[in-house]
Amino acid sequence: MKCPVCGKGCIQPVEEVLAKIEQKYSACPACAPEPNLDKTVGAKLLPERLERCRSCGRATLDAVMLDALRLLQGFGLRSIDETLRSVGSPLIEVGYPLAYSPRLGPRSLIISGGRYSKKAAEAMLEQIPEIKGVILSRGVAGVVDSGRKPQENVLLAGCDLRADISQSLFGETVIYKNQSRMHIDFSRLSAPKMRILEQLYLQGKLRDVVDGLCGPGTLGLMCVLAGARRVVLNDAWHAGVQNVLLNLEANRSLLGIDEIEYPETSTSFVAKEPVLVGRAHGSCEIEVYHGDLLRLFSRARPADICLIDHFPGTNTAKLERACRCCKEIVIV
Ligand SMILES: [Zn+2]
Ligand SMILES: [Zn+2]
Repeated sequence: MKCPVCGKGCIQPVEEVLAKIEQKYSACPACAPEPNLDKTVGAKLLPERLERCRSCGRATLDAVMLDALRLLQGFGLRSIDETLRSVGSPLIEVGYPLAYSPRLGPRSLIISGGRYSKKAAEAMLEQIPEIKGVILSRGVAGVVDSGRKPQENVLLAGCDLRADISQSLFGETVIYKNQSRMHIDFSRLSAPKMRILEQLYLQGKLRDVVDGLCGPGTLGLMCVLAGARRVVLNDAWHAGVQNVLLNLEANRSLLGIDEIEYPETSTSFVAKEPVLVGRAHGSCEIEVYHGDLLRLFSRARPADICLIDHFPGTNTAKLERACRCCKEIVIV
């Protein structure tokens, strides 16, 4: 599969990603110990640069962030008093709960933050081999509620396609996402949601499920893995739905999918009326809708369980009323 952003090999077969993840970020026997630079002191008190390992060529996270800080200083975008933390958030290409700080190979880190220029972002990509993409962040990406305009961050340079590995007692999935268009969901933060799914599974309830605000499909696809017979995924945000279709393809064999169809195409950015953009057959019948959850059940058959994974702090009363036709609503 070609990457829809950069055309390169950013999307690897899921089985391969899972098999190699343990080695992807580990140090080699020759790697120097973790430098543990102070994240609270100004640039003037930090070393100029940190070397990569001579044997495996990998860099520590500190080494990459320090290079980025020095480069931003060179462009006049950071002062000598600003810290490593001021650079932004480092997002590893394949997110995985690590017990140690990752050692980074080429094109394995996406940086998301503020006060970057396009020129500086392009220079980061050219001069710092570990950097894969630079995102200018404006806040939480995606549709926060259906009444408001969706927020998108800006990919200034490189590619923003990355993946998160979700783990549960049913197994693991790899969920790809265009990070400039999706909110950042760290593995440790999505774990409580997985625990809710596991509880439902143990009660024998994950058979016929709607993932009403599915984003890139994390919860819905996990239900497929848990042995559901029918899963409906829905999102109003086109970037979410596009990522779901990508994830069906990437996780195809893991999810027991025999065939994927694309019955309708949606042209809107934020959909209102539900459009059936994908359907997959196999061990589970999967439907993917691009639409407002408030109107989903004008087209989709109600399910036994309707999952509503909302942004923290949003009021779900209206959504709950719209999903009343399902046997049970679970706010995740
Ligand atoms: Zn790419
Ligand atoms: Zn090494």
